[in-house]
Amino acid sequence: MLCDLHTHTIVSGHAYSTLKENIEEAKKKGLKFIGTSEHSEQMPGTCNNVYFYNMKILKRNFDGIYLIRGAEANIIDYCGRLDLTEDKHLRNLDYLIASLHSACIKDGGLTNNTEALIKAMDMKKVRIIGHPDDDRYPIDKEELVLAAKKKGILIELNNSSLTKETSRINAKSNNIEILKLCKDYKVDIIINSDAHVDYQVGDFKKALKLIEEVSFPKERVVNFDENEDRLFDYLKINKEKFYQD
Ligand SMILES: [Zn+2]
Ligand SMILES: [Zn+2]
Repeated sequence: MLCDLHTHTIVSGHAYSTLKENIEEAKKKGLKFIGTSEHSEQMPGTCNNVYFYNMKILKRNFDGIYLIRGAEANIIDYCGRLDLTEDKHLRNLDYLIASLHSACIKDGGLTNNTEALIKAMDMKKVRIIGHPDDDRYPIDKEELVLAAKKKGILIELNNSSLTKETSRINAKSNNIEILKLCKDYKVDIIINSDAHVDYQVGDFKKALKLIEEVSFPKERVVNFDENEDRLFDYLKINKEKFYQD
């Protein structure tokens, strides 16, 4: 695998490793780059959004593994608004994951939840919809998949959702449905760990098993090595420039 773009550190307030530890783990797992994606400021215990502005000080190349600067923004209403929208905070970020979290938004019912995710796709720097696999927020999966295709946004297959420790409900069966729709409509996905401790970084075992189970085509998973160019297109990052930085 090329990368893991959904990882948290102690900065998020409910995760247990440092950025340095996560980077070292990513290197150990053989990834080419790692995305760090702390929760934005409406998640209890996380950093102020000023944190994201200052990520400009972080170098790219940590002895051969590259760092990409992200955030997991909270969707805070059914118009898809996020709690990380100001240019001064977004300026130095490479990408956002937009997600629904129980600490930041209530279940609005299927229509509202779907609308929230689809509208969030239009928010600045959003490139990925995080874990849309949770029956605490029922959604119209077909509408979501078709919107992602139209808007050029990646749908995440979240490895943590598939573990026994997850708080998300029915994630496995929901992901199977989403994968089938993505396969039928030729929509690309990204596999991420959503690590909250270093040893989870780059752990995609459950997600990889699931894509085998549903015979999901490998060319549709943008963080497989061979799909690197397409991944950078989705992220809207100039690949050559990124690696030279
Ligand atoms: Zn999340
Ligand atoms: Zn997360």
